[in-house]
Amino acid sequence: MTTALVLGGGLAGVAAAQALGQNAVTTTLVDRADYHQFQPLLYQVATSQLPAEDIARPLRTIFAAEADVDVVVQDVVAASFADRSLTLADGRTLTADHLVVAAGGRPNFFGIPGAAEHTFPLYSVADAERLRRHHRALVTEAAGTQVEPGALDIVVVGGGPTGVEVSGALAELFTALRKAGKLPDEGRVHLVDRGHAVLGPFSERAQQYAHRKLTDDGVLLRLGTGVDAVHPDHVELSDGTHLPTRTVIWAGGETGPEIVQSAGATTGRGGRLDVRPDLSVEGFPGVWAVGDVANVPSGPGEGVPTLPQLGSVAQQSGRWAGENVARLTRGEATRPFHYKDKGIMAMIGRNAAVAEVGAHRHEVDGPLAFAAWLGVHAMLLSGVHSRTDAFLSWAWDYFDRDHAATVESHDTPRRIAWGDDSQDVPHIDLGAPRT
Ligand SMILES: Cc1cc2nc3c(=O)[nH]c(=O)nc-3n(C[C@H](O)[C@H](O)[C@H](O)COP(=O)(O)OP(=O)(O)OC[C@H]3O[C@@H](n4cnc5c(N)ncnc54)[C@H](O)[C@@H]3O)c2cc1C
Repeated sequence: MTTALVLGGGLAGVAAAQALGQNAVTTTLVDRADYHQFQPLLYQVATSQLPAEDIARPLRTIFAAEADVDVVVQDVVAASFADRSLTLADGRTLTADHLVVAAGGRPNFFGIPGAAEHTFPLYSVADAERLRRHHRALVTEAAGTQVEPGALDIVVVGGGPTGVEVSGALAELFTALRKAGKLPDEGRVHLVDRGHAVLGPFSERAQQYAHRKLTDDGVLLRLGTGVDAVHPDHVELSDGTHLPTRTVIWAGGETGPEIVQSAGATTGRGGRLDVRPDLSVEGFPGVWAVGDVANVPSGPGEGVPTLPQLGSVAQQSGRWAGENVARLTRGEATRPFHYKDKGIMAMIGRNAAVAEVGAHRHEVDGPLAFAAWLGVHAMLLSGVHSRTDAFLSWAWDYFDRDHAATVESHDTPRRIAWGDDSQDVPHIDLGAPRT
């Protein structure tokens, strides 16, 4: 009997455990949360478009039908690649024939003073829910009293896909709140980035589309400008400006999680684990790394570029590593990872998106790009939920209908009609430590 441990229940860890379980490998998946969290919809939670429960699915529900997969809900406090072991917060140590590391990433604050203490990262449903509650409290406060200038402003740091998507969604929320008479005129969204264009990895056309859309929606773009320090009530920018704000969202980059820094392997670019083409970790037989925690090569051979931190990379690499373990158990050779490139895309607002579809990067924007976004995300979601029809129906409504008159930050947002039982509700602990 072959055994495996999977560290992390994100898209990569779930896909790996599913592949292992389906190949009769006795698998234990460990995560500090009792639920999988679907990161691409985090900013919809942060901006009150979705309740947190709708994008968090209990891991035990996901694996209910997998007899060979057991779920352990514990913080992993140490890992040893040499022993293929995980030490849990409750004192137990688990070991197995294979260890699949799928521990995701964490924000990289680049040592900027105050950034770790005073910003809101957006990595988990707890992060998104904390941000939503913080903003709601500010809006409620502003409705009753005069607040200081800038108190309602939000500064988003980082103009990559996450920063652009969250800025677009916030601008929409601000417009909706203003129309409903719930937000005074002064609340603004500022997007700050050291680069000279938003959406760095995209084509110039997509960058210009996103720039135009954000500006039209009232987002103040501060490009070519860095953040030098973050304080509870303002940020210091590299051009000497002090921007008053009580809300700074960190979308400024990510690095490998703490747990892999002391597990025995030297980490590579971005504090992530370098892997061989078959996703195994050099020098540690039986250890694999997948998803955001890994520098996944885009093809065979030395020095090839690595793939970006994307949901489809996480899901496909997780599945591939699980299948490679299964190949070894059958006495076969492992196979180098082959990525089916779906392209890159970003949703800038309810009715605006950019997409570069497929490996050839066919450029589209507007409704077509939204349709591409929907297709790719429905596929990602299908790995953790059978009711993609419910997601599609919510998403078309989100895209189609002007929620401006109804969306209020303290109202219950429109839910995805998952039709779940009460036992399928996750336990979201806002005090839980971050990845
Ligand atoms: C806001 C946001 C929006 C995004 N939007 C998109 C998008 O639109 N499209 C797209 O393709 N990609 C998107 N991405 C990227 C995509 O979500 C990630 O690439 C993907 O989810 C990574 O999956 P993963 O399984 O590698 O890591 P994660 O999903 O981060 O999972 C890691 C898991 O490991 C667990 N873990 C870590 N350390 C420990 C420990 N010590 N003990 C116990 N458990 C631990 C964590 O709790 C977590 O559940 C987005 C990411 C973010 C943050």
